[in-house]
Amino acid sequence: MQPNGAIGELEAFRERVRHFLSRSIDSGIACPAFGTIMPPAFGDRARAWQAHCFEHGFAGLHWPRQYGGQGLSRDHTNVWGEECARHDVAPYMNFQGIILAAGAILRFGTEDHKQRYLRPTLSGEILWCQLFSEPDAGSDLASLQTRAEPHSGGWRVTGQKVWTSTAQLAQQAILLARTDPDTPGSRGISFFCVDMDTPGIEVRPLVQMTGDSEFCEVFLDDVQLPPDSLIGPLHGGWKVAMSVLADERSAGRVGAINLERRLAVLAGGVPGDDPVLTDRLMRALTEGGALVQMMIRSDGDLSLGPLTKLAASDFGAVAAELGLDARGPDAMINGEATEPFLYAPGMKLGGGTSEIQRNLIGERLLGLPREPRPRFLPGPPNKGRAP
Ligand SMILES: Cc1cc2nc3c(=O)[nH]c(=O)nc-3n(C[C@H](O)[C@H](O)[C@H](O)COP(=O)(O)OP(=O)(O)OC[C@H]3O[C@@H](n4cnc5c(N)ncnc54)[C@H](O)[C@@H]3O)c2cc1C
Repeated sequence: MQPNGAIGELEAFRERVRHFLSRSIDSGIACPAFGTIMPPAFGDRARAWQAHCFEHGFAGLHWPRQYGGQGLSRDHTNVWGEECARHDVAPYMNFQGIILAAGAILRFGTEDHKQRYLRPTLSGEILWCQLFSEPDAGSDLASLQTRAEPHSGGWRVTGQKVWTSTAQLAQQAILLARTDPDTPGSRGISFFCVDMDTPGIEVRPLVQMTGDSEFCEVFLDDVQLPPDSLIGPLHGGWKVAMSVLADERSAGRVGAINLERRLAVLAGGVPGDDPVLTDRLMRALTEGGALVQMMIRSDGDLSLGPLTKLAASDFGAVAAELGLDARGPDAMINGEATEPFLYAPGMKLGGGTSEIQRNLIGERLLGLPREPRPRFLPGPPNKGRAP
């Protein structure tokens, strides 16, 4: 990766990106923005868009060249993200692949992992999903029960995952499983790559209240993994997972541009002749404007991620409800208006719930006393407590 770019050079690059995006929108190849998780209906379009970006040198901008990247700086990646947000275009096909899986592989993978996975992830050949959450391990992820036992030189995995976005489309997964059953909590967990075609994996899509099936239950029954499926140290998967999940909570300048665009759409959709709706709109625009500034100020500072995540998901629910009310009775039969409203509660859960963000803000930003942690049994009190 290059050191961050000089301003003149970055502005020239921004012009190139704008030109590429405008041409791609005109030709119909650009995939419209869809938020963090790709809805399955976008699958083919998003894959074609990822392949097009890769072919034209606009994928993996700060990744090393030997793995299919462009060897540029993180500033270049940020410019790409900002311009995609301005043009309302998806910056990549798959967050779980480009940010989470590749982030883990770039930081903790072997040379063989990098050679095998990074280029096909960038070119759109591999779509990834994230097998972390379980029915009894969401916020308290460190209590996960899926087991990976040594077997024939590799691993045998048994357990159940839930909430797995795009599992029904994915070729590969990143998986957290317990490799040391005697060490409860975060310390006995390892991080794996899993081929989703491996026998013993059953994917059952769940229907959510929007009518879509964006996430799934995934059952793992004696799934055999090869020895080189482990990413990072044995029993050290928590550190790998936490380093990539921190990336999940960053919003920054790209979030601010997205929000500004949404505020403009909201303002245009509220009729000016209704004083109650106008009052609600003014409040929403004021709060939204403050949130835009907060996102800009938090840019590049991962420690502020919980603050923007909490505020953005709260604001998303307020804006979605206002958008719905502004449509009046038409909203009851118009899917386009109801979709954001029905989707908004999920935004307060995915990537860590609002309550968990509040705990993080209290403990890490404000220095308040720590929440009581669950005590795992067996073992002495607090031996394996979640961090
Ligand atoms: C749209 C969407 C996509 C997702 N995609 C994926 C994915 O691809 N892969 C994946 O692994 N997971 C995924 N998730 C799961 C997500 O990470 C979990 O929903 C989240 O971690 C919360 O876990 P839970 O749903 O089990 O809730 P629980 O942890 O059971 O929480 C239930 C309630 O208790 C509250 N609570 C829990 N602990 C505390 C505490 N210590 N203090 C205060 N309140 C607390 C929570 O805030 C919540 O209100 C997705 C979720 C959503 C909504």
